[in-house]
Amino acid sequence: MSPLNSKLIKTQCYMDGCWQDAADGGRFEVLNPASGERVAELANAGAKEAKLAIEAAHAALPAWRAKTAKERSQILHRWFRLVMDHQEDLAQILTAEQGKVLAEARGEIAYGASYIEWFSEEAKRVYGDVIPAPAGDRRIVVIKQPVGVVASITPWNFPNAMLARKAAAALAVGCTVVAKPASETPLSALALAVLGEEAGIPPGVFNVVCGDDAEAIGRELTAHPLVRKVTFTGSTAVGKLLLKQCAETVKKTSMELGGNAPFMVFDDADLEAAVAGAMAAKFRNAGQTCVCVNRFLVQEGIYDAFAARLAEEVAKFKLGNGAESDTTMGPLIHGKAVAKVKEMVEDAVGKGAEVLMGGGVSAVGPEYFEPTVLINASAEMRIHAEEIFGPVVALFRFKSEAEGLALANETPFGLAAYFYTQDASRQWRVGEALEAGMVGINETGISNEMAPFGGIKESGSGREGSKYGIEDYVEIKYMCMGGISGS
Ligand code: NAP
Repeated sequence: MSPLNSKLIKTQCYMDGCWQDAADGGRFEVLNPASGERVAELANAGAKEAKLAIEAAHAALPAWRAKTAKERSQILHRWFRLVMDHQEDLAQILTAEQGKVLAEARGEIAYGASYIEWFSEEAKRVYGDVIPAPAGDRRIVVIKQPVGVVASITPWNFPNAMLARKAAAALAVGCTVVAKPASETPLSALALAVLGEEAGIPPGVFNVVCGDDAEAIGRELTAHPLVRKVTFTGSTAVGKLLLKQCAETVKKTSMELGGNAPFMVFDDADLEAAVAGAMAAKFRNAGQTCVCVNRFLVQEGIYDAFAARLAEEVAKFKLGNGAESDTTMGPLIHGKAVAKVKEMVEDAVGKGAEVLMGGGVSAVGPEYFEPTVLINASAEMRIHAEEIFGPVVALFRFKSEAEGLALANETPFGLAAYFYTQDASRQWRVGEALEAGMVGINETGISNEMAPFGGIKESGSGREGSKYGIEDYVEIKYMCMGGISGS
């Protein structure tokens, strides 16, 4: 890899404003998913380094939370500007460690930066309340204060944006942060730290600990009494484990977990709009996003036409290394991911699904899965119950609105849902009935910094972005002012 700006490539942890190796000198490798080649070798931090980072974050807390909201806002705004000034460099690093095509990587950098910008503005709007008191000599005042040291654990699929939207909200209100990025993609997080330092984030306020023993680092972050909040994005299985671990010290938590998004197409939908929406919502990051469509539920009257048009579009993908300009879909993150997608397709075919296109590992290489379209999917198949996390379209058929809704909601997950219909009453009815934290109606571009991102059911708790996102990082304190006499 030859990044345009090598100052952004860091191979040590960032703690207390210093770049540091692991105490035992251990290293771990970061590989390029497109080629399997080594991108970098990094300091392999563990529980010991996590503890040091927590202590640094705790020591930095009083001065950071004592800054005025405007001062924190200005630092965050400089960070936002620096990220956008380095968009191309950051995108290249992201593609090298994560595999997504460069155009998407540039989009992720801008998307992550938009949260830093947003929370730099929201920093100044953390308002309290004055509430009518039950007696004339008292006043009830409510203030909002930072929760304290925040531990952030983030996944490999959006290594810049998932961290940016947590850290920006936490820092905006005066919390300090210890970030643990995914071991597959730590370089994007470390590059953010370089720019944060340049923006003026003081030592200890934002720390990055990377290593390949997630369990050990996670245990320290969830057990240490000085950490007052854990914010996690990742799988539901790991989220549940972290929730259990956080219970011991009753930490606040935000959990952005897995999804199983339904995409409903009603007979009265605008077919072309539905196909365009489906392509955008299914294939971003080769199908590896939490809000990717998992199940296409299509009403019987439009089923064949939708399947045929979608297959036409899916056939246009060009697989390859995301860094090459004509590539439109990159590899999956690693061989295990390819094997899982393959098993799920085989399970579906074994239970009666028909392959319209694709269906196997691509000839491009073992890390690539063919864009696939399956018809006649049914609720007995794994693709109905589990996150596919790959470029596989599975088309289920339904007759009535009630039947379609029952199928859509037949999942313990509740992150995103989408549906296409031109009937205005149905837009309200179905929008209200879908069990999901986010619903796209004739639209799949649902994620932006102004809107509350998050799930219900086993897809998690808490919201990121929007005016609600800041609430996850503050404690409410009520002060009762007594002895106030009349004049
Ligand atoms: P994952 O396996 O749960 O890993 C996520 C993070 O947790 C990584 O940093 C990982 O570190 C760490 N981790 C793993 N085991 C841990 C443990 N025992 N203790 C502490 N930390 C641990 O998920 P993933 O495969 O990276 O990401 C895909 C999942 O994330 C999907 O389910 C997707 O839907 C979900 N996701 C949700 C959202 C949302 O906003 N709701 C957004 C994006 C992704 P290592 O990498 O070092 O193992």
